[in-house]
Amino acid sequence: NSSSSDSIHDDQEKLLDGLLASGFDEASCISRLQSHLYRKVSPHKPSRYLISKLRNYEELHRRCGPNTIAYNKSMAYIENSKNNNGDGTMCKYLVFSPANGLGNRIISMAATFLYAILTNRVLLVRFGEDMHGLFCEPFLNSTWTLPNNSPFWNQEHVETYDTILDKDKANNSKHDSPSALFLNHQFTKGNPEKFFHCDHIQDLLRNVPLLILQTDQYFVPSLFMIQSFNLEINKMFPQKDTVFYHLAHYLYHPSNEAWRQITTFYQTYLAKFDEIIGIQIRVFRPDITSNQAIIDLVLNCTIENKLLPKLVTQNSVSYIQNHTRKAILVTSLSPNYGENLRAMYQNKQSISGEVIEVYQPSHEEKQKFGDNMHNMKAWTEMYLLSLSDILVTSSLSTFGYVAQGFGGLKPWILVKPHKKKPNSAACKQDFSSEPCFHYPPMHECNGKFQKHFSSSFPYLWECKDSHSGVKLI
Ligand code: GDP
Repeated sequence: NSSSSDSIHDDQEKLLDGLLASGFDEASCISRLQSHLYRKVSPHKPSRYLISKLRNYEELHRRCGPNTIAYNKSMAYIENSKNNNGDGTMCKYLVFSPANGLGNRIISMAATFLYAILTNRVLLVRFGEDMHGLFCEPFLNSTWTLPNNSPFWNQEHVETYDTILDKDKANNSKHDSPSALFLNHQFTKGNPEKFFHCDHIQDLLRNVPLLILQTDQYFVPSLFMIQSFNLEINKMFPQKDTVFYHLAHYLYHPSNEAWRQITTFYQTYLAKFDEIIGIQIRVFRPDITSNQAIIDLVLNCTIENKLLPKLVTQNSVSYIQNHTRKAILVTSLSPNYGENLRAMYQNKQSISGEVIEVYQPSHEEKQKFGDNMHNMKAWTEMYLLSLSDILVTSSLSTFGYVAQGFGGLKPWILVKPHKKKPNSAACKQDFSSEPCFHYPPMHECNGKFQKHFSSSFPYLWECKDSHSGVKLI
């Protein structure tokens, strides 16, 4: 009967081909079941194995998550014993501690979730006020928020990862593992190698029931390097360039308030257009970059690559009668770029005959820390950008990575404005929608310096916007 097969098909679409669990209260998170209405049918299907791992994870989270007997018992043990001599029935935890901007947080939390799945840990998040109300609860009948009364809201008395590394160096394999450990995984170029991608370190971490992970990076490529995860992770993700796509669509559902903002903007301004071109402008070095240099970069990129049409001038005429309507969605901290593009296209004829309109949802002037409404705007804009048909992003920006990853889009990446040479390309199209891991490991597990891990793994390529970075393809 066709109506029942239609409704099965509808459920399939709503639940993103089985990626999402059924059984949620629809009204508490409208976006979960509506998001598919705003995107084209996805060519990326989650593997059966990924789906089964997610269902198992949900079971673990339900059993061991906050407000359960197992949680209380395990945490009491973890809090009260210095060393881990647990009885093996305990639950293990991974506490995510966010750092830096929202883009960094979103990509690194997805990596942390994957790490939790691979190590049978329950993911808990330490969100401050600034992160409240952005996302729905991702796990059915449970919460991912670390309870307020947990002592692990800070890590003052928690042993650090460096002490484990020191013990490892001293080859002291007999030492007791601590019951909790703080791992600062905020990579910087100057940081010593963490050897997180190595099995011998993972063996040590496996025995620690509670890990606090502070990170701002998309370290998924490291997880692919760990041999003991290899079988699992490859079965979960046969198509490697969709890891973030699936994890993000599973984990990040805009809260009802965020969804109201996203859908209101979309319906009011964007829905009527045939095509949306998202342009994400992030200026990391305003001290050495002029507005004009950025505008030139954007126009060179979009016009040379025929993403946007040229305008009719005295020497040219409109020869094609193309009535396509295109919206340019600009996101930037500064109002200049939206205003400039609007002034350029408003009431002017393009040589293709296409009608172009320009929209910029906000201009916050500068990055603000600890500000909830500011994060809400950022989240709304990353999501709107991900609904584009074509995306132009700025080099090295994790804000752009979220948009491209969520949208499954291969963006055109603008070169760094101060690095642009007169005759060089203004942008290059990326080969994958995955975020770039900016600070991959620098050594093999035996300590040997590794020039670039992309040479050892065929599905890890050097990022287009970062020579030292790697990403999945
Ligand atoms: P990245 O610094 O570009 O890698 O991206 P992050 O998202 O990690 O940090 C930048 C932060 O600055 C964002 O999270 C926002 O808070 C703010 N921001 C940067 N660009 C924009 C923008 O275009 N729109 C809005 N609303 N906020 C932005």
